[in-house]
Amino acid sequence: MHISYASVAAPGLPNEDRAVTGDGWAVLLDGATVRPGVDSGCVHGPRWLAGRLAGALARRLAGGTRAALADVLAESIAETCDAHRGCDLANPDSPSATAAIVRAREGRLDWLVLADSPVVVDLGDRLEVICDDRVARLPSYTPEAVRALRNSPDGFWVASTRPEAAYEALTGSVALADVRRAALFSDGAARLVERFGRLDWPALVDLLDREGPLELVRRTREAERAETEAERAVRRGKPHDDATAVLLRFR
Ligand SMILES: [Zn+2]
Repeated sequence: MHISYASVAAPGLPNEDRAVTGDGWAVLLDGATVRPGVDSGCVHGPRWLAGRLAGALARRLAGGTRAALADVLAESIAETCDAHRGCDLANPDSPSATAAIVRAREGRLDWLVLADSPVVVDLGDRLEVICDDRVARLPSYTPEAVRALRNSPDGFWVASTRPEAAYEALTGSVALADVRRAALFSDGAARLVERFGRLDWPALVDLLDREGPLELVRRTREAERAETEAERAVRRGKPHDDATAVLLRFR
């Protein structure tokens, strides 16, 4: 197996994405930017949260845990909650992150997707695209609405202060022998498909595989710079975003 990735911050900003990989597994987390003026009740912030969670997940996966990925994520969220210590974990604006995980073990490839960091599994004759689009279908995006909908059954789920969020993730598994490639993307690295419509999923995976993750990011930045004010006004999200893409090649 061969694994490659790149994680590139939005220009001029700290990177809130995290990627970590090991023998047969990969984790990608995208920490949610805290809106200016919002009291999160946490002295740490999204980069700390994503880093802590990445470490907790990596330790379990590198240790060869046999647990289901949702259990692995739930344990990792609980461990990260403990590490906050004095922070107010009841604050609904406590830092949060997406989670995308793949793991090859005992002849299977398992995946987990929580919030908008998609996983694509190339099965040779078809692609399995695992997209948790709940955050894209909220009835309102005011700060108050998003606060009320975060980690709620009517809204969307993220890795933050509630371990049970892990059981709201999309999970699945395929026979490893059928898998050609698997790819994990932060939403900032999926923009050529999801925001700009310049590529479809097969083309994005091919770009990542043939040209490499840095070329994928370069083309994403090019599309971001070409976006007009009018287009930006009707699309949610930032003009530039952190972009992280991971490729696992199995055969
Ligand atoms: Zn904290």
